[in-house]
Amino acid sequence: MVSRWAIAVDRTVCIGASVCANYAPEHFELRAGKSHPRVATTDPDEAVLDTAETCPVSAITVHDTDSGALLAPEE
Ligand code: SF4
Repeated sequence: MVSRWAIAVDRTVCIGASVCANYAPEHFELRAGKSHPRVATTDPDEAVLDTAETCPVSAITVHDTDSGALLAPEE
């Protein structure tokens, strides 16, 4: 079975830099200046990991829904 990835944004940390919405608009959008995931879970997609790594304040986290492992950002 192919695992799914859970996407979360800590809006208390997000500074609205919009890197995520520009880089992966199918997964993130800005509402009232803060990022929101468009979907709670997604099929594995490297763009989601890249975006989590690129967020300047590490507000985006990606977890494997099966194992619960943190996939991005790398600590
Ligand atoms: S890249 Fe990070 S700081 Fe910028 S809008 Fe997205 S979650 Fe917020």
